[in-house]
Amino acid sequence: MKNKIQAHRLTTSIKRTIVIASVVMLSAYSKAQSQSKHPDVSKGIFPKGKQGPAENFTGKVWNYGLVPADSSLTTVVGNVYFEPGARSNWHEHPAGQILIITEGSGYHQIKGQPREELKKGDVVKCPPGVVHWHGATANSGMQQMYIIPNVGKGIVKWMQPVTDQEYNNQK
Ligand code: MN
Repeated sequence: MKNKIQAHRLTTSIKRTIVIASVVMLSAYSKAQSQSKHPDVSKGIFPKGKQGPAENFTGKVWNYGLVPADSSLTTVVGNVYFEPGARSNWHEHPAGQILIITEGSGYHQIKGQPREELKKGDVVKCPPGVVHWHGATANSGMQQMYIIPNVGKGIVKWMQPVTDQEYNNQK
């Protein structure tokens, strides 16, 4: 009788351990799932850098220079993190610009053309002297690398802010 009770207690204790272990494993699994569905866009592959000035951007935008302009390579490379809803003013690059999206999602729009959606892995070529803007979607930040060639022609000409109506693609 005593042995039976002890055996029953042991079985109960094993069952309890299995239940607890399953709960722990399940919660770790669901945490990993939610992290993979919603990556933290603020943690890019480069440091966040310095906040962009309010006269050129709406919302919080962070710039980290990777290759400074010089006369031999004549190319500027850097990384920008747009927080959700943040975007550049309208602007143009006298020698054009290449954007490489490394995380999150956002928009790019050339003046007079439809707004285009951007996602991780997209590459965008902005032709020389074409007025445009780029930024994050309202719900996700965006990490983008920029490459500006032929800096002797100029890097950027800043213009007016992108209005909420323009940002939201409303006519
Ligand atoms: Mn640009």
